[in-house]
Amino acid sequence: MQTQICSINEDSLALAKKLLLQEETVAFPTETVYGLGADARSDRAVENIYRVKGRPQDNPLIVHVHKDFDLNTLVYDEQPYAAKLREAFLPGPLTLVYPSRGTVSKIVSCGLDTLAVRVPSHPGAQEFLKYVDLPIAAPSANISKHVSPVSAQHVFYDLQGRIPLILDGGACSGGIESTVCDVTGAYPVVLRQGLISREMIEKVAGRCDVYVPKAGEQVRSPGMKYKHYAPKCKTCLFDSVQDAQKSFCTFEKEGQRVYVLCEHKYADMFPDGRVLDLGAEPEEMAARLYSLLREGEQVADVIVAVRPSQRDGIMAGVLNRLNKACAGE
Ligand code: AMP
Ligand code: MG
Repeated sequence: MQTQICSINEDSLALAKKLLLQEETVAFPTETVYGLGADARSDRAVENIYRVKGRPQDNPLIVHVHKDFDLNTLVYDEQPYAAKLREAFLPGPLTLVYPSRGTVSKIVSCGLDTLAVRVPSHPGAQEFLKYVDLPIAAPSANISKHVSPVSAQHVFYDLQGRIPLILDGGACSGGIESTVCDVTGAYPVVLRQGLISREMIEKVAGRCDVYVPKAGEQVRSPGMKYKHYAPKCKTCLFDSVQDAQKSFCTFEKEGQRVYVLCEHKYADMFPDGRVLDLGAEPEEMAARLYSLLREGEQVADVIVAVRPSQRDGIMAGVLNRLNKACAGE
């Protein structure tokens, strides 16, 4: 299969709609990462997403809709605070998990009785969703477990030959996946941290917890148990910059090509040309993380990462992705 990359216009949108109605997958931009979309109503289309990505069958998908789509056709909207969250943050990088009406393919939710719904703010995503006017099931448009794509070229690198069309909306401004928040209970519970922080949700809803799975319990957000977001090369995470420097030297002595992923304030402590600079502000670090991991895997044998010191707000989401990228190393 030939994979076309097209900018978003009348012709490419018409092609996207035609492909989706043929139960094919189409990649599209959002403000977080690129998505791999399919018609959420069709079992075959949704199965195609899992096949193309090599995604585990028990990892549910988020349904994407435009801002005027009637939510009540998809889910039961029971909690008054959910409307406040939509008002405050949507369109935007917040996914809400509701009780499902069962109107989309059961494969989307992997047998759960809930459905995750997101309204992205990226103008290209809105244009696409409005044009097709379908509920679009979409995970990130990467091969399962690889770093999520934040440009059309990243999608092409992973999925070339496997999908017919990539809608190119430029680089994603947000950089990490949406916050996933369960709104089925008396107060919101964050299942996956992201650019809308727990603190921001709490301000609007009065209370917000972060879900921590208990031993032996069935996980509430199945996708979170998998290793994720990982570059193809060895990637090690250090709490202190001194330990990272020692490790840099050890790997270099072994003849390995080492790159360092760190905040801007540590950049001077490593050799020129070997630093993947995350920047200084939390928003910058979120926006750069995945492009730097993808850049790093192209040039490095080993990436040595220094854990940023800030832990709250959107840094909770950035640290969560960095931990998973370096899982166990
Ligand atoms: P991705 O599409 O890779 O960004 O991952 C979407 C994530 O959203 C999944 O890995 C789940 O953790 C979460 N998710 C999607 N649907 C549900 C749901 N119905 N209930 C709980 N979590 C969900
Ligand atoms: Mg993903």
